[in-house]
Amino acid sequence: MSVTNWFEDKRKFGGLIGAFLEEATRVSVSAEKEREKWINVNTNKGLWARCDNCGNMLYVKFLKQNKSVCEECGYHISTSSMERIELLIDRNTWIPMDEDMTARDVLDFSDEDSHRNRIAGSQDKTGLTDAIQTGIGYLNGTLIAIGVMDFHFMGGSMGSVVGEKITRLIEYATDKSSPLVLTCASGGARTQEGTLSLMQMAKISSVLQIHQVQRKLLYISILTYPTTGGVTASFGMLGDIIIAEPKAYTAFAGKRVIEQTLRQKIPDGFQAAESLFENGLLDLIVPRNSLKGVLGEISELYSLAPYKKKDRIRSRSLCIIF
Ligand SMILES: [Zn+2]
Repeated sequence: MSVTNWFEDKRKFGGLIGAFLEEATRVSVSAEKEREKWINVNTNKGLWARCDNCGNMLYVKFLKQNKSVCEECGYHISTSSMERIELLIDRNTWIPMDEDMTARDVLDFSDEDSHRNRIAGSQDKTGLTDAIQTGIGYLNGTLIAIGVMDFHFMGGSMGSVVGEKITRLIEYATDKSSPLVLTCASGGARTQEGTLSLMQMAKISSVLQIHQVQRKLLYISILTYPTTGGVTASFGMLGDIIIAEPKAYTAFAGKRVIEQTLRQKIPDGFQAAESLFENGLLDLIVPRNSLKGVLGEISELYSLAPYKKKDRIRSRSLCIIF
């Protein structure tokens, strides 16, 4: 602990961080896998978490109150799907769908570990059956269909269960003429399920086409850190309105793969939300604290504007927002 941090510890926390210093410094923030695990464990069970961006120690109780946003630097720390659901919809209105759907290891896949073991381990760690929660709830009084991916479950990978749950959710939203909100957090398609995971991209895109184009219903996509691979290449970037959290990493292929393919360096921040916004790939960058308010305003406008029937009015409505 530096002298500056020691004084800050004494001033703000009465030296409590020092007492947890060993636990705090034992975890390397450079290893992505360990970092995610550490944040998950500590935000749920421990007293303290460390910000990945500025390194400050954060009291978990206050961190949760601040929607897992670092109070020192504003960095948006990875959060669980349940926390996101609580953040986005009105209290006590969440009704989950297809909660018991689980993946089958049809390919009998195994590398360093078997697919079955990975699934079981993620289920134990997160309490979820797969990498997404879908359901319905009220957003400032408006009924919405919502799906929230969870990066802590096998890196938020999109397999057959994720694809099927999203597809059923979209079909439900289309049937009920409800707005649809999908929050993305994913490393991409699930390698262990092979083509079965890749086909989810086309499956989801086709039902979205019915929802958005044929029925002219609203779909809002929310991109969080990280949104990559097959999720970016399908429903992540298909929203009528695409919103990202600040500095959300959004890409199809990673920086290293692009550099090796093109044989040239790409600039830092090339795949951050701010860069995508500057290049016209996003509509809004919204801090987590303001997200529900923004979604509420869009939903209210959507319910008032009759753009389900007239595309001309729809585009005018969106101009008012942006
Ligand atoms: Zn910070």
